[in-house]
Amino acid sequence: MYNHIQHYINGQWVDSTENETIDVINPATEEKIGEISSGTKEDLDKAVQAARDAFPSFSQTTKEERADLLDRIADEYEKRKDKFIEVIMEELGSPVNFTTEVQYPMGLNHFRATAKLLRDFDFTEKRENSFIQKDAIGVAGLITPWNFPTNQASTKLASAFAAGSTVVLKPSTETPFAAVLLTEVFEAAGLPKGVFNLVNGTGSTIGDGISSHPDIDFVSFTGSGGVGTKIMENAAQDIKKVSLELGGKSPIVVLDDADVDYAAKTAISHIAGNTGQVCTAGTRALVPESMHDDFIQAVKNHISEYPVGDPKDKSTFTGPQVSEDQWKTVQDYIQTGIDSEATLVTGGTGKPEGLETGYYSKLTVFTNVKPDDTIAQEEIFGPVLSVITYKDLDEAIDVANGTIYGLAGYVVGNDPDNLTKTARSLRSGRIVVNNEPADFTAPFGGFQQSGIGREWGDYGIEEFLEPKTIVGLPS
Ligand code: NAD
Repeated sequence: MYNHIQHYINGQWVDSTENETIDVINPATEEKIGEISSGTKEDLDKAVQAARDAFPSFSQTTKEERADLLDRIADEYEKRKDKFIEVIMEELGSPVNFTTEVQYPMGLNHFRATAKLLRDFDFTEKRENSFIQKDAIGVAGLITPWNFPTNQASTKLASAFAAGSTVVLKPSTETPFAAVLLTEVFEAAGLPKGVFNLVNGTGSTIGDGISSHPDIDFVSFTGSGGVGTKIMENAAQDIKKVSLELGGKSPIVVLDDADVDYAAKTAISHIAGNTGQVCTAGTRALVPESMHDDFIQAVKNHISEYPVGDPKDKSTFTGPQVSEDQWKTVQDYIQTGIDSEATLVTGGTGKPEGLETGYYSKLTVFTNVKPDDTIAQEEIFGPVLSVITYKDLDEAIDVANGTIYGLAGYVVGNDPDNLTKTARSLRSGRIVVNNEPADFTAPFGGFQQSGIGREWGDYGIEEFLEPKTIVGLPS
């Protein structure tokens, strides 16, 4: 059992002002694996005060000191590899291979990449008669979702520490234990007390408290659009800066010269990886009309290579949804697809055979989906793919850009001109050509309703800074 009914405030674990707790469930077994404290506004006030008190001295440390700190954090993170993998598997139901190869290193990569960029980062700049100095923004409130428990927190924390900001983190109640492990990492790395504070609790109490707190200068949020709106509304009351990393409905544009097996496997891996619970998942495959039948056949041929099952089993590619609520939402969307004029290729409602316990969904693919169908427009956050056909590349680009989102886009094919034209025309924050791996030094974030602001690397650091212009500084 992972019981963490305390908060981490001012460098120590402290009791909550109330005794209320929240159960944490392993979604693969539906069993309780531990509990966390349901924090109160008083707990949050104490954490914010600790962060405020730590800010004057931490913000004055040198960038070299903070870069060294980030490297020490990365070293301590690496020492706990097995623990991170175990915790993420248990609380998220993330399969062992995916956890080891994707979940675990993503958090680590942010600390390493940010440390490296920080050493070359200019906090000052000279223009004509002005001197620009970038100051740490102050106390940041960080609110994170459950789908990548260490990644979502680590990108924010690496940037905040690099900038010299102090923080209060509120992780998701579904996956709070990875943040407890991060706390252990920070302690071991010698992070000064009060720089990092952790308050567990519900979105309606702690999340809402962060976005409306008068002593928090900046809210960095990752999660759903609905909550993002509430955060902006709260933050608007005292003109608090916000950064929002929200949802997506990303397209995979398959060019007419693409290898059809490669394209089909790319599309399946997007809905199967992390059980489709990925903000950047390519969930709309745009396929040339002439390739459609071959593409669908290739999907049928390859789908069994992505088995759904027990996260602890090394042959499992796809685990359960994170919670019963999330499972029900996914099931409702699959039913919506079945009730539409789209054609069900594979999957459907219900649990896969033999997986009655656990919040498992079937990998589900629909074709003959129209661009405006609900399943092609709304984020499902589950293993559901919509295949849409197109006549020519201009139509494909129009359809690809035809949602309220703009977080990511994917292009699969060979012709350099068409790859370039498509990649450069997609209106999204991150475009991936032929499954190129991520670059942790490059910005991450969304156009349109996928968000405001950028994370990762030096763009992430900038979010935690305020540029100050000084004219007439004696030289
Ligand atoms: P969510 O919005 O329900 O919750 C995210 C966090 O916000 C949680 O910690 C939650 O407790 C908190 N919260 C809930 N209500 C709140 C309120 N009123 N005020 C402040 N905080 C509140 O999202 P989720 O279900 O945890 O995650 C899934 C969503 O996150 C999806 O929409 C997904 O696309 C998005 N997401 C985006 C990115 C990105 O980088 N763009 C990455 C991962 C997930």
